[in-house]
Amino acid sequence: MDYREEMKKLRDYLNEQGYLYYVMDAPVIPDYEYDRLLRQLEDLEAAHPEEITPDSPTQRVGGRILEGFTPYAHEVPLESLQDVFDGEEVAEFCQRMEQALPHGVAYSVEPKVDGLSVALEYRNGVFVRGATRGDGRVGEDVTENLRTIRSIPMTLPDKLPRLIVRGEVYMSRAVFQQINDEREVQGQPPLANPRNAAAGSLRQLDPKICAQRRLDIQVFNLQLSDGKTFATHSETLDYMASQRFRVIPHKVMEKTGDVQKEIAWINEHREEYPFDIDGAVVKVDNLSDRTVLGSTAKFPKWAVAFKYPPERKSAQVLDIVVQVGRTGVLTPKAVLTPVRLAGTTVTNATLHNQDYITEKDIRIGDTVLVQKAGEIIPEIVEVDFSKRPEGTSPYLFPQNCPVCGAPVQRDEDGAAIRCTGAECPAQLLRNITHFASRDAMDIDGCGPAVIQQLIDKKLISNAADLYALKAEDVAKLDRMGEKSAENLIRAIEKSRGNDLGKLLFGLGIRQVGEKAAKVLSAHFQTMDALLSATEEELTQIPDVGDVTAKCIRDYLTSPQALDLIGRLRQAGVNMKSTLQQVDQRFAGQTFVLTGTLEQFDRKTAQSMIEARGGKVAGSVSKNTTYVVAGEAAGSKLKKAQELQIPILTEADFSRMLE
Ligand code: AMP
Repeated sequence: MDYREEMKKLRDYLNEQGYLYYVMDAPVIPDYEYDRLLRQLEDLEAAHPEEITPDSPTQRVGGRILEGFTPYAHEVPLESLQDVFDGEEVAEFCQRMEQALPHGVAYSVEPKVDGLSVALEYRNGVFVRGATRGDGRVGEDVTENLRTIRSIPMTLPDKLPRLIVRGEVYMSRAVFQQINDEREVQGQPPLANPRNAAAGSLRQLDPKICAQRRLDIQVFNLQLSDGKTFATHSETLDYMASQRFRVIPHKVMEKTGDVQKEIAWINEHREEYPFDIDGAVVKVDNLSDRTVLGSTAKFPKWAVAFKYPPERKSAQVLDIVVQVGRTGVLTPKAVLTPVRLAGTTVTNATLHNQDYITEKDIRIGDTVLVQKAGEIIPEIVEVDFSKRPEGTSPYLFPQNCPVCGAPVQRDEDGAAIRCTGAECPAQLLRNITHFASRDAMDIDGCGPAVIQQLIDKKLISNAADLYALKAEDVAKLDRMGEKSAENLIRAIEKSRGNDLGKLLFGLGIRQVGEKAAKVLSAHFQTMDALLSATEEELTQIPDVGDVTAKCIRDYLTSPQALDLIGRLRQAGVNMKSTLQQVDQRFAGQTFVLTGTLEQFDRKTAQSMIEARGGKVAGSVSKNTTYVVAGEAAGSKLKKAQELQIPILTEADFSRMLE
C-alpha cells in the first residue's frame, strides 16, 4: 500500500476509535492496540511531515468538551506524555537526559495509573475547584463530582494562598467488580472497564451517582504552589503526602539499568496495585532541570511513559466449561494448564461465545497463546495448530442449560445464548430481585440479600412463593427482626394490588421494559386478553416491534411462564389493568360472534374486541351492538335479523379493527 493511503487509513481508523473511546467511553479495541497503531502513524508522519493533516489523531492531545459542564482553563497545562515501548527506547531517553544534563540526573519512576487526569485547586488551604484534563488547556469543571471522592482532602494543613495539584482519578478493581456484580443482579449492563467507569462517573451530571461509584485518586504532580518552592519532584510528592493527598508510589534512581529494572518490577507487581496501570512513567526529578529541558508542542521533554505490551504465554486447553450467568447467558471458558501472567497465575480464559470459539477454532487439547493486557480476565490470542493433537473435534455448545437442563436459545439480536428455564436456579436470584424491584412489583425491603437467603433456606423457588411467606419464616433470616419481617410481609401483601403493567414488567419478559409493560397493560386490560393475543396483534401496538412481539409470545406460551402466572393468580395477585385503555373505539359496545371466521379464531377475535374497550357476549339480545357473522352462521344470525341488530361480515369487522 502507498504510504499516503496507509496514513489515511490509520487516521480514519484511529479517529473512529478515538471517538468511541474518548467521547462515547465505549472502546472496542484494547488501549494497547490503539497506542500501537498511533505509534505507527506517528512514525509515518515523522517520515513524511508534509502529509500530516489537521484531523490526524496525533494533532490533538485529548477529548472534546461535552455539554453540561462549564469549561475550566488550566493555568498550568496538563501535558500528555511521550510513549516508549521497549527497554532500548528507555535507554535512549536516559542518554538524551544525561547529555543535556551533564552534572548528573536522578529519575522518579512511577506506575502509570489508568484513569483520567484532573487538576485540583486550593485557595488558602481549601478545595475550591477541580477539572478534567480536556485538551490539556481547557477542561470541564467537575468540582461537585470531585467532592464526592473521599480521598480528596477538602482542606489542607497548610494554608498557602494557592495550590494546584494534578492526579489520576480511577475506580479500584475491587469497586469495579462489586459494582458489576450489583449491576448484574439488577439486570443492568456491566461497566466496560475501570477506566471508562471512572470517566463516565466523573462526567455524571448528578453528583449522587458519582458518589455511588466510589472513585479514588492518586496525586502525581504539583502544578503550582504560591509561597513555597521545591528543588525536586520527589520533594513535592512528599509535601503533597504531608498535605494529606494520596500520592503515587514512586522510587528515585540514577542509573539507566535501575530505571529499566524498576519498570519491569512495576509490571511484575501490577496486580498488587488496587488500580489498573497501563505503564510506568519515568521523570527527571530535578525541577530546575525540567525548566531547562522544556517541552515540545505536545510533551514535556523530561519524561516518558513506558507502555507495557500484553504479556503472552503458551498454555494447553484442558477443558471448555459453560457457566450460566444470573441473566441466563451461557458463557464458555477455557480451563488451562496454569501459567504465570502479569503477576498472577492464570488457570482459565474467557471464550465469550460460540462465534468466538468457532472463529478461532479453539478445541479441547489445543495449545494456545494466552494474553493479559491489563484486563481482569485473560484471553486466548490464537491456537497453535502445529501442536493440535489427533482426534480433536470442533467445540459445540450444549443444547441444554448445564444447570437446569432447559433448552438453550440464541438471541435474535446477538451472539448470546441463553437458558430458557424460567426457574433455572442460576437465574433465580436475579429474576426474583427484578420481580420485587421498585419499577416492577415494588416490594420494599425485598432486595438481593434477603432473596438470596430465602432461596438458600428453600423458602422460595419462584416469585409466586413470596406470597406464601409467613412473618415467622422471614424473621429467622439474618439481620431480620420481627418488626422488619412484618414490614416485609406487609409490603408483599400490598404488591398484590399492583397494576398489571408492574406485574408484566416484573415477569422479566425479554425486550419488555417498563414502558412497554405499561402500554401492554393499557391496551389489553387483562392478563387473559394478553395471553390470547397473537403475534400479529401484538405488532400492531405502537412501541411493540416484531422482535418484542415474538419475545412476548415465546414467553407467554412457555409452560414455565404459564405455570408461574397460574401460581401468581392463585396467590391473589391482580391480573387487571388500572390504566386507561388507550384504544377505546368499541367502548360501551357488545359484540356477538357467530359462524366460522377465516382470519381469526374466536379467542383472538374476542381479545381484539376487548383490547379496544368492547365486550363479547355469548348470545344475542336487544343489548347487542353488532353480530359478526362468519361462514355457516346459525341461530344467532337469525335472532339478530329478528331484533334488527346490525350484522357485520368478516370483512366489515376487519375494517373496523384497522
Ligand atoms: P497518555 O494519556 O498516554 O498521553 O499518558 C499521559 C497520562 O498518564 C497523563 O495525562 C496522566 O493522566 C496519566 N498518568 C497516570 N499516572 C501518571 C503518573 N504517575 N505520572 C504522570 N502521568 C500519569
